[in-house]
Amino acid sequence: METINRRKFVKQTITAAAALAVPASVFAHETRAALQFTQVVLPYAANALEPNIDALTMEIHYGKHHAAYIKNVNDAIAAENIPYSTEKDFFANASKLSAKAKNNGGGAWNHNFFWQVMSPNASGTPYGKLVAALDGAFGSVPKFKEQFTAAAMSRFGSGWAWLVKDGNTLKIGSTPNQDNPMMDSSELKGTPLLALDVWEHAYYLKYQNKRNEYVANWWNVVNWDEVAKRLN
Ligand code: MN
Repeated sequence: METINRRKFVKQTITAAAALAVPASVFAHETRAALQFTQVVLPYAANALEPNIDALTMEIHYGKHHAAYIKNVNDAIAAENIPYSTEKDFFANASKLSAKAKNNGGGAWNHNFFWQVMSPNASGTPYGKLVAALDGAFGSVPKFKEQFTAAAMSRFGSGWAWLVKDGNTLKIGSTPNQDNPMMDSSELKGTPLLALDVWEHAYYLKYQNKRNEYVANWWNVVNWDEVAKRLN
């Protein structure tokens, strides 16, 4: 009996020692589910937002631009062995990412968000508790729209306009390129409630240089249900 117990003890000790000898990083690598960005399915047909956003713009925007951001960020995550396993951690560490990972990661996430905050069956105006929140933060819904439009119009070059919730405060702002308010490197910080893409690729085919007309018509397709859902 003593021999069996001793053997068992020795065997267990060797197993434990072997396990300890494996570098922790190997386990981390094996057990970690690598972050993968996935392109959401467009929640409506490409022509569903006509005449506010034209079908060809939607097809190129979703099928080419957005698809490329998704592919490129996933390539960067694999090639650079990026260790973050959630989108939240990825953006919270944006300042440490390569330009490729940061720009394409932002592009991947921002567009997934953008498609969902638009709808062909939009009500045209916010309602319910969202109205109270916008009134409280900006004075009134028209004043909120004015300030958001100003943020979209004053963003020089490519970028995004945002409504975010930072703690209990609603804020309007904009970010350059594919930055978003979840990035540690972003001046504007908070949880996105609404976003507007003001890259020329988002409007140029239909509106050419008239970003103001694009922004004005975009209000017709804002999905206030989605915005209200994110207010909680
Ligand atoms: Mn875009």
